[in-house]
Amino acid sequence: MTDPVFPRIAIIGAGLIGSSIARAAREYGAAGEIVLYDANPDVRARAAEIGLGEVAPSLEAAVAQADCVILCVPVGALANVAAGAVPAMKAGAILTDVGSVKSEAARALTAAADGRIHMIPGHPIAGTEQSGPDAGFPTLFQGAWHILTPVVTGAPGEAEALAQLTAFWKGLGAKVESMDAARHDRVLAITSHLPHLIAFNIVATAFDMETVEQGEVVKYSAGGFRDFTRIAASDPVMWRDVFLNNREAVLECLGRFSEDLAALQRAIRWGDGDMLMREFTRARTIRKAIIDAGQDSGAVNFGRNVPKAEE
Ligand code: NAP
Repeated sequence: MTDPVFPRIAIIGAGLIGSSIARAAREYGAAGEIVLYDANPDVRARAAEIGLGEVAPSLEAAVAQADCVILCVPVGALANVAAGAVPAMKAGAILTDVGSVKSEAARALTAAADGRIHMIPGHPIAGTEQSGPDAGFPTLFQGAWHILTPVVTGAPGEAEALAQLTAFWKGLGAKVESMDAARHDRVLAITSHLPHLIAFNIVATAFDMETVEQGEVVKYSAGGFRDFTRIAASDPVMWRDVFLNNREAVLECLGRFSEDLAALQRAIRWGDGDMLMREFTRARTIRKAIIDAGQDSGAVNFGRNVPKAEE
């Protein structure tokens, strides 16, 4: 990029997402100065040690001169952090977040609003199962969607603020789209939240099965189970907060999922091979559409079976 979109940004929460934003903003020149704050003193010390940016001693000090403040904390912490940040921010600055549930983010940010700050919740559809300042990397957002769910108030400068934040995320390599918060939460309930719930559940079920030794679960986990264990290794605090704050949309998806699962259960019980073929063939088509849309690699087994010489 030529000129940074924001002369100074503040990142609150220096974990996977916060540290990735810091790294990407520096690498691609989307921000001039980068200041970070984290409630955890060990994370602050580590962020300083690995040179993520200037590390502030308090939330207020971090946000004071920032043109854009990005909250990268668990969804359940957003309301408190926004309430602490807003009074210390300069007028006309942007307050955004990266939380995985947007209705709650809108509620938390709006509750803290004082009419001086632009509130633009957002969510990068990018991440890994790891946490903390060492887990981040600058290319995390390249080619990924970033969904903005602006709180429209009609305040002067609102459209310019949205354009600036859009330019910032594009500067990090993301494709940016605006969406209604409730719609975001319904879409993510089925594409992200329910798959995580299923992964947490299947890992728990496998470990609780008396007929299978826990050692055998680990030893023979080269099949589909291994992919579930990767998803189930995600941060428990983050996911607790996602389910507590997107309850209705997740319960709606879970109801439909349970009905479909019961139909498969019945097909297995009654030997209905035609039904199983129909459903499995449809699922395969959807996987192909995801690869064709560039949302995943078409490499066999995610490229994990590549012969050593070709790695
Ligand atoms: P993370 O690696 O655990 O980082 C979160 C950081 O925030 C931790 O260092 C945590 O400190 C700190 N924190 C917690 N409460 C705080 C507070 N009140 N004030 C300041 N710092 C606080 O989590 P993450 O994966 O980056 O997730 C951050 C946000 O991004 C979440 O809202 C999540 O929904 C969203 N998100 C995550 C992903 C993903 O794949 N991980 C993808 C998209 C969006 P402690 O170490 O003490 O807890």
